[in-house]
Amino acid sequence: MTADLRDLYQEVIVDHGRRPRNFGPLPDASHQAEGFNPLCGDRLNLRLKVVDGVIEEARFEGVGCAISTASASLMTEALKGRGASEAEALFAGFHAMLTGEPQVTPSSLGKLEVLAGVREFPSRIKCATLAWHTLHAALHSESQPVTTE
Ligand code: ZN
Repeated sequence: MTADLRDLYQEVIVDHGRRPRNFGPLPDASHQAEGFNPLCGDRLNLRLKVVDGVIEEARFEGVGCAISTASASLMTEALKGRGASEAEALFAGFHAMLTGEPQVTPSSLGKLEVLAGVREFPSRIKCATLAWHTLHAALHSESQPVTTE
């Protein structure tokens, strides 16, 4: 990764961490889940409006570090208009990017690639994946709160 690209990625993360997109309640949500990352103290509540298997709206609330907030913000942007299985595939690609599984080429992650640098900080990977674990729970409508532990 070039230094310029790294700076650009950093800028996007800071921007989304400070001004998260899709932050707030979603009164007509069809799916929801709570996520908690005890390692860092990140908490979020994710709500989805799924119509005919397609995620029409995704919004979140909660408090967390810049990485968890930016990741949730970028995730909600990436989810809109996607089917549930497509969303899960995106999670698989995102997870592979962060854990560096060599057999997987995380293509077409789009803007989510700005979080690639997190893989150099193993303690922050759970901050970046919290929103996605919560998404998984929401799509499966698991009623128990999720934790990254
Ligand atoms: Zn965190």
